[in-house]
Amino acid sequence: MKKISLLGATGSIGINVLEVVRQFPERFSVVALAAGRNVELISRQILEFSPECVSVCDQEHVRILQTLLAGKWHGEIVCGPEGNEQVAAWPTAHITISAIVGAAGLLPTLAAIRAGKDVGLANKETLVMAGKIVMAAVARHRVRLLPVDSEHSAIFQALAAGRREDVQKIILTASGGPFRTRTREAMQTVTREEALNHPNWSMGKKISIDSATLMNKGLEVIEARWLFGMEPDSIEVVIHPQSIVHSLVEFRDGSVVAQLGLPDMRVPIAYALSYPERLPLDIGSLNLSECARLDFFEPDYNCFPALRLAFSALRAGGVLPAVLNAANEVAVAAFLDGRLRFPAIVETVASTLESVQDGSEDSLEDILAADMLARRQAERIISRSAHS
Ligand code: NAD
Ligand code: MG
Repeated sequence: MKKISLLGATGSIGINVLEVVRQFPERFSVVALAAGRNVELISRQILEFSPECVSVCDQEHVRILQTLLAGKWHGEIVCGPEGNEQVAAWPTAHITISAIVGAAGLLPTLAAIRAGKDVGLANKETLVMAGKIVMAAVARHRVRLLPVDSEHSAIFQALAAGRREDVQKIILTASGGPFRTRTREAMQTVTREEALNHPNWSMGKKISIDSATLMNKGLEVIEARWLFGMEPDSIEVVIHPQSIVHSLVEFRDGSVVAQLGLPDMRVPIAYALSYPERLPLDIGSLNLSECARLDFFEPDYNCFPALRLAFSALRAGGVLPAVLNAANEVAVAAFLDGRLRFPAIVETVASTLESVQDGSEDSLEDILAADMLARRQAERIISRSAHS
């Protein structure tokens, strides 16, 4: 029986993780859960999966949960950032699934690694902010960092076809999001609802907006750099609107190995949970003749400047990827609140990158300080633009 600690249980990834657990009760059990504010859903998850420990966002939500569960469940309830770390490093867990959204995922993921847990990583922000530190911790504690992000799972699977020294480049596919065919001018008037409406995947709000700006692909390029130890010049992005080819690896003899499948997050989640075994998921077969065609295009860097910005933050290194991430989180939240126009998300990130730059990628302290400064700076830029 593999025992799972799940961070971000009430989110899109968390719900899919529990779906896989539900399908294979003889293989998996859930020993710890962490979530934010959705106490109604977490209380139902607690009653169904009987974890030993649960974390919610704060004391007030602990009290609500205690009332909801009085007499029905007797585990421990913790809260806040410390609560997330306790769940991440929960003693009886064999694997921790990191699926909190945003920078809040970094410290719990590190806590899991330091406690010797294998980690299934959905929270790409962890590697964007502190890839070097996290990969060093993975090596030091001899744990596995298994990708849950579908592109990275695809690359992880394709890499198994050859020797690491024979890999020439990796190619990440991107659906292109809901605005793939829009002009730059038409992008000015994008609404919140349009941006949240991803053509192929149903996901949390933040990653849906990131997919619309293509910042998600930029974050994934940085994630891939660390996860697979690839230089930025050996990472490419190709637009593939059907989301059937999940990513590819090119070897030095010119062979290209890809992973294909229907777009369903349960596939990479189950692979991370059961690696190296594959589970008989009830996903249905990929019918290639029904797909009819698979298209691939060069990304339009002018319409989607986020991708270029992420590549340049990665090349510059230091704390710049963490600054990119923090400014993006603030700008996406402002867009979702109706305080920022769609193109201003990436403009805010670009301006923040110009003014917050100091710090080393080897220092967690520097990274967390840059994250905080970048958030303040991005807020300043947004409120200035609201008053101009
Ligand atoms: P989501 O918004 O649906 O869920 C986020 C979860 O994190 C919720 O359970 C929420 O309660 C919890 N959470 C948020 N802040 C928290 C905090 N401070 N402390 C504790 N819990 C907190 O997001 P999602 O779409 O499930 O994405 C989660 C992560 O997985 C993101 O990093 C995203 O980039 C990555 N990812 C998602 C998908 C997808 O298909 N949804 C695919 C690949 C990668
Ligand atoms: Mg992805």
